Amino acid sequence: MAILGATGTVGQRFIQLLERHPWFEVREVMASDQSAGKRYDVAVGNRWKLTTAIPERVRALKVRGPGEKLESRLLFSALDASVAGELEEKYARAGHLVSSNARNHRMNPVVPLVIPEINRDHLALLDRQPYGSGGIVTNPNCSTIVLAIALAPLHQRFGVESVIVTTFQATSGAGYPGVPSLDILGNVVPFVSGEEPKMESETQKILGTLNGRGVEPAGFPVSAQCHRVPVIDGHLEAVSLKLARPASAKQITDALTSFRPLARLDLPSAPVEPIAVRTEDDRPQPRLDADRAGGMGVTVGRLRPCSVLHWKFEALGHNTIRGAAGAAILNAEILVRDGRL
Ligand code: NAP
Repeated sequence: MAILGATGTVGQRFIQLLERHPWFEVREVMASDQSAGKRYDVAVGNRWKLTTAIPERVRALKVRGPGEKLESRLLFSALDASVAGELEEKYARAGHLVSSNARNHRMNPVVPLVIPEINRDHLALLDRQPYGSGGIVTNPNCSTIVLAIALAPLHQRFGVESVIVTTFQATSGAGYPGVPSLDILGNVVPFVSGEEPKMESETQKILGTLNGRGVEPAGFPVSAQCHRVPVIDGHLEAVSLKLARPASAKQITDALTSFRPLARLDLPSAPVEPIAVRTEDDRPQPRLDADRAGGMGVTVGRLRPCSVLHWKFEALGHNTIRGAAGAAILNAEILVRDGRL
């Protein structure tokens, strides 16, 4: 397979997560004109920011330029949003299946916006795309994924009526070099461009229902307030919600911890426990909990009554793994299981 945008923050995560993947092997890498034609290790240079080394066989791959012909059927996209829309479509038209992180096609009515634990059935939208044997599948924004995973079992069992969410988002979510250090060190920035509308609309699409006309969005309102904080990895979210049917703390905890829809599918990247619930007063925390289940698990804690809505809790997930590269890899794994790859 190939990685588009392979030199960026998310592109590097793809390379790291795929190093020992039993099904997929990185054979091609693509990035901008400034990287094109160089060996991968030269193109990425000192921008490689992961704690593991660049895998040996990826180091020597020659970086392809934007739009250059690729051999692989499966493409993972970590392209900058300024170019992802056009390039992903071009590759889909050429017969590639693109599993994308970029925002450009997420809300397109014929593009599935998928979290396999929640709405695997939305992949049927691929049959309505105008790309012949190619196609585009997207995963949600990094904050939306954490919220949607925590809400899904509660929506299924008790019905969610409204949600208020406040995020504390890691700096790696802004890519590299991202937020200037003088803006973020010892500070909180109460604005993440475009994030609030994305959380509000993407959550409704993911938890929506597929019918003959497309995806009918879930009807409940989501109000999001997003903040950038001086944390490297892991988005923490304070969630308050109103439920349609009464639920006790025990019933909510049971719904969250028993949520294991992929348990029997044997997917290499699917966490055994998609949601873990912590009972300590001070968890989850990004530094302690973001890497749970190889960065693919969402951790919930501080479940307690809300005096305005019904219940409130904290949810945490790794933004470049569960929220980006790992999510796109899991989407490709479910495409394999569904016989589409
Ligand atoms: P990034 O670090 O800025 O990397 C962007 C990548 O896009 C680089 O590989 C860059 O190549 C490539 N690129 C830029 N302009 C290009 C062009 N004209 N043609 C071809 N390639 C081009 O960004 P990132 O944080 O990895 O994010 C990548 C995508 O994932 C974005 O759409 C972002 O919104 C989304 N996303 C990010 C996160 C996160 O936590 N960071 C989470 C979810 C989704 P060069 O190195 O050659 O410039």
